[in-house]
This record gives sequence, structure tokens and C-alpha cells, in this order.
Amino acid sequence: MKQKSAGQSTQAIHGTSITDAHGAPHLPVYNTTTFAFENTAALLDVADGRRKGPLYTRYGLNPTIFALEETMTSVEGAGSALAFCSGMAAETALFAQYGREGIVCVGDAYGGTMELLTTQLSQLGLTTTFLLGDEVDRLDEVLSGGPKLVFFETPTNPALGIYDVAALAETAHRHGALVAVDNTFASPVNQRPLALGADLVSYSATKYLGGHSDVTAGFVLGADELIEPLKPWRKSFGSCIAPEPAALLSRSLRTLIVRVNQHNANAQAVAEAMEADPRVARVLYPGLPSFPGHVLAAKQMTGYGGIVTIEIAGDTDTTVQVVDRLELFALAPSLGGVESLVTQPVTTTHYDLSPQERQRRGITGSMIRLSVGLEDSDDLIADLTQALEIVTV
Ligand SMILES: *Cc1c(COP(=O)(O)O)cnc(C)c1O
Repeated sequence: MKQKSAGQSTQAIHGTSITDAHGAPHLPVYNTTTFAFENTAALLDVADGRRKGPLYTRYGLNPTIFALEETMTSVEGAGSALAFCSGMAAETALFAQYGREGIVCVGDAYGGTMELLTTQLSQLGLTTTFLLGDEVDRLDEVLSGGPKLVFFETPTNPALGIYDVAALAETAHRHGALVAVDNTFASPVNQRPLALGADLVSYSATKYLGGHSDVTAGFVLGADELIEPLKPWRKSFGSCIAPEPAALLSRSLRTLIVRVNQHNANAQAVAEAMEADPRVARVLYPGLPSFPGHVLAAKQMTGYGGIVTIEIAGDTDTTVQVVDRLELFALAPSLGGVESLVTQPVTTTHYDLSPQERQRRGITGSMIRLSVGLEDSDDLIADLTQALEIVTV
């Protein structure tokens, strides 16, 4: 059952041709660093790329990694996938290969991405132009200066800003630039950037793809000819995923579609309840008709994701108290797991930014980011409601 026409759930479960010789329904973990050959000719066949086969795990030439990458390729509907030891490792290879003539980062980006671009890669001579808010209108002009990679997230963290993948790709392609979308928040269940016109997709698989807060990993996907040049970077940076996390991630992918669909439903219920609560000043969720990006989200997404950001009708201190009163939502800086998590962006993801920079990104002290998990949505709403009791309006 590997035909390209099969549905996404079928692909998630049967999307690899690599199977166990004994008939086990799941590939056992090849927890080995190297593979032996019958003779030198057989070794050279694999080393020279004439035959795809296991060789050395750091090169990604390991059956457990092959199986994961094949499944992920099917789920995304891409040409190829490369699995990395983290989302940051995936981005590093992507920028090293495609960002050397300049990168344009559109909209707010994950804090780690910002640090990588502004602090480490800039020291290696890779320059990034950041376009926030209305500055996106300057993309055409900035690309005339020569950058060959446009990178962005949609929805963004934590304000859930929605960017038009097809429109940005059209502008980038006119200048011969590639478009890479960090699709971590949406997951391939809610959004397929490649089908919308992007050239490359990156993921922190640590979030929804893993889904259980127990594996750190990343991916880059795209057409074969765009993925092939990333392999030497992954090999030489030593940033390949290891067999055990690869097997865990393969297991997670089997339930990706049902998990994300339930995250979507729970988040919609939480967002609607929060919108009706007078102690909440504003709810940012792409699935709410009141959300500014709703129409665009409805056009390019098939679901609205599990992240809901709310603004408390109160100051930063009151917001800290609300966060600290939550019982089901654990205070932890991640997202996408079965358990609900909460963060206050000003004390976590956007802690290091100046007040001016936070303002440019629309980050306020009364903002709370909820990663809505798979608990009963009534219980999650009850937890939020009790935590909001200290807010007086
Ligand atoms: C977490 C995250 C990353 C980084 O991923 P790691 O797996 O932690 O390296 C990149 N982009 C987004 C949007 C993220 O949420």
C-alpha cells in the first residue's frame, strides 16, 4: 500500500517499503553504528551511491532512518526527506546550503532560529534580512539585492500570524529565490507548503510529529534535487538523527493524523470558550472568524492547529499569576505533545528581546501561549476558568 494516491493516514501507517524480514509489523531498531559487507565491491557500491543501502549511521545510511524518511516523505507528499537530530540541526543544514547568498526571514521566527541567524551564522558570513509586519511589502525590493532564500513560519509563534505561502513563493520565484517554510506549528496534517508553492519544508519533529514530548528531531523535505545537496552537510555536521529516536518518531507518525485532528478540535473549543470569557481581552487562533488571519488560514490550511494564544485583561503580574494557577497546563517551553503546556512569551521565548523588539513582534506582557493537548477539552476549559478567577474586570 504505497501508491502515491493513498490517503495521508494510510501513508502514515504503510508509507515505507522497508520491512522486517520476519514479518514484524514494525521495523526493529537497527541500533548499530556500522554495517558489514561481503566484499569490497559490495561496500563500494553503497559508498559510491550505486546502490542505496545501510553503511554508517552518521551518514543516515541505516534502515531505521530510511524507514522514517520514507514514511515522512509519503505523509508530506514530498520527493525526499532528511531526518536530523533536532529542528535546529535541520535548519542549520538548510541555511548552510541555500542561505549563502543571503536569507530573508519573513515575520516572527522561533527564538532559536533568530539566534542561529543573527548570532552564529552571521559570524560565518551568512546575512539575513528580517521583514516584520508591513515590511513584508518590501520583499520584492529586498530580493532585488540578491538573497536567494526566503524563510518563514506560518502560523508564527506565539501570535499565530498567517503568511500567504503562494503569494510569497510567487514573489521569491520571480527573483530566482527558493522558499522554505518552517511548518512545525501546522504539521503536514493542517498545511502542505510544497503544494502551495514552497520549495522546501522544515520541521521541529520535537513538536507535533513526535507528539509525546519524548523525542528531539527535525526534518527538511522537498524535491529530490533540492534535498540531495543537504546530505553532505548533515554528514559533516554530524547532525543525523540516531536510530532510537528515529524508531520512536516512526511510531509517532502512525498516529499523527488522529492526534492533530484532536488537537485542532480541542484548541477550537478552548479558543471559543476563551473568546466568550470577559477576563480574556483577546484570543489569537486562526480558527476563529474574528482572527485577522482567518480568511487566509482557511484558504491555505485544512485545520487550524493546537496553539491558542490569549491576552489576559490585566497586567504582566496578573498574567504571571494566571499562569501559575493553572494545574492541567504544565509550565514548560515546548508544544505539540499530548499534554497541555503553557508559556508566557515575555518570560520564555521572547525573554531576551527589548521592549521595542517585542512591540514590533506584537508580543505583550499579558500574552499566554497555550499548547492545547489531548485531555478532555471541558477539563482544560475548567482549568483556565479557575485560573482566571484572580482577574477582575
Ligand atoms: C521548537 C521549534 C524549532 C526548533 O526545534 P528543536 O527540535 O527544538 O531544535 C524550530 N522552529 C519552530 C517553529 C519550533 O517551534
